[in-house]
Amino acid sequence: MYIPKSFMVITPHPDDAELGCGGTISKWISEKAYGVLLVCTNGDKGSAEPHMTSQMLSGIRAAEQESASKVLGLQEVVSFGYPDGELDDTKEFRERIVKNIRKYQPEVVLSTDPIRQSFYIHRDHRITGQVVLDAIYPYSRDRLYYPHHEKEGILTHKVKDVLLWGSESPNEIVNITEYIDTKIEALSEHSSQLSDIDSVGSRLKDSAKRAAANQDYQYGEAFRRIVFRQ
Ligand SMILES: [Zn+2]
Repeated sequence: MYIPKSFMVITPHPDDAELGCGGTISKWISEKAYGVLLVCTNGDKGSAEPHMTSQMLSGIRAAEQESASKVLGLQEVVSFGYPDGELDDTKEFRERIVKNIRKYQPEVVLSTDPIRQSFYIHRDHRITGQVVLDAIYPYSRDRLYYPHHEKEGILTHKVKDVLLWGSESPNEIVNITEYIDTKIEALSEHSSQLSDIDSVGSRLKDSAKRAAANQDYQYGEAFRRIVFRQ
């Protein structure tokens, strides 16, 4: 996989990006790519604490995401702030994604794979992945979709490649051996989501080792890559 000049990570919840592609983000940023993170929900349901409220939790998770994004070196973070678990494949949601893709013009988009056969995935993940793929093609590409964008100076964009994490059929492994520690550090910032911070590092290393099982390096992140244009 080449190092893109720019990329956009579109994630359902705070912490998904760090888990799915934190090493790749850190690697590409250190190679001078411009990285934007778009977080669709505020993660306000992700707690079993008896005294936690959604309002408190969304504030905690926004602060955690900010710290994690700093660790990864992301240049910009955009938050849509939808309530956790309430994403829908609507015209409004699709347009917001299209508008950001057109605004930032990323060469590569990373998101969550919406298709899994063998086990059920969180509704927000399924919907995010599906809407992101639709937004890339054909909506961001063709100027007659959302023609008012053009009047605002936001022009059409052709994304070159998509990398989907959490895939059952990965076809692209990114070598993150030098970036595994940064990935662990970034994920550790999401402490509201971690029951045992000490075991996070070893679990992440185990899965990164499995991803790189057939490679000549130690740690990888696995993706399903869809090439939209050569
Ligand atoms: Zn999630």
